[in-house]
Amino acid sequence: MSTLEIKDLQVQVQTEDGPKEILKGVTLTINDGETHAIMGPNGSGKSTLAYSIAGHPRYEVTGGTVTLDGEDVLTMSVDERARAGLFLAMQYPVEVPGVSVSNFLRTAKTAIDGEAPKLRTWVKDVTGALDRMNLDGTFSQRSVNEGFSGGEKKRHEIAQLDLLDPKVAILDETDSGLDIDALKVVSEGVNRFRERDGKGVLLITHYTRILRYIKPDHVHVFVAGKVAESGGPELAEELEANGYERFLTAAV
Ligand code: ADP
Ligand code: MG
Ligand code: MG
Repeated sequence: MSTLEIKDLQVQVQTEDGPKEILKGVTLTINDGETHAIMGPNGSGKSTLAYSIAGHPRYEVTGGTVTLDGEDVLTMSVDERARAGLFLAMQYPVEVPGVSVSNFLRTAKTAIDGEAPKLRTWVKDVTGALDRMNLDGTFSQRSVNEGFSGGEKKRHEIAQLDLLDPKVAILDETDSGLDIDALKVVSEGVNRFRERDGKGVLLITHYTRILRYIKPDHVHVFVAGKVAESGGPELAEELEANGYERFLTAAV
């Protein structure tokens, strides 16, 4: 089972000019096995939503609740959230100089499972996961995200998704900066994850392009820190044709 329930979530950040409210009451439920797309213009708070669910310390929750299978996510540490089954693929994955992909993946897997993976199967699993993302054998010896191309960063994120096997994956603009071949590889990786039992996906995107490859069950238009409208895949088609204008004028 994996149900992520976000209710009236309000989030602020501290800025030089004082606190700034970014999320203004976000309500959203991802039921078992569902894929939801969140689409919104730049600056609407999409990454803030992703970071807040994942537990980034800069984002201060001032109201509302987030639960995963009924468990309060907001009182958990970042580690506990990952162990509970939440995964975030960041819009801008961070460089970790000196830590190889191989070490990073093994450490993450060990932390999440509470025990080290069995060496023989693990090596095979990693090779398979990287291979499915068109990343070759030497890739696992490189430092995490250091000097990676945009496409390599995103493909590495999806290899992590494959290996760490969370309950719910939050993918923040995993499509941005990808050429068409990389977009297909990444989408296929996400779709393979979705085929596993009961996995939830929150797919955050600015563009409709990725939705040709990953078909969401529900689409939400996100404007000015909240969900402006929810619907099915047809809502994405409307955005593709008409852009965000209708929602932007309504939000002012
Ligand atoms: P999106 O991902 O939809 O482009 P973000 O969540 O990145 O939007 O940002 C939403 C708004 O919050 C923007 O106006 C952005 O400048 C502001 N914001 C986000 N994070 C911070 C931060 N750490 N400090 C100050 N402002 C922030
Ligand atoms: Mg539903
Ligand atoms: Mg963003």
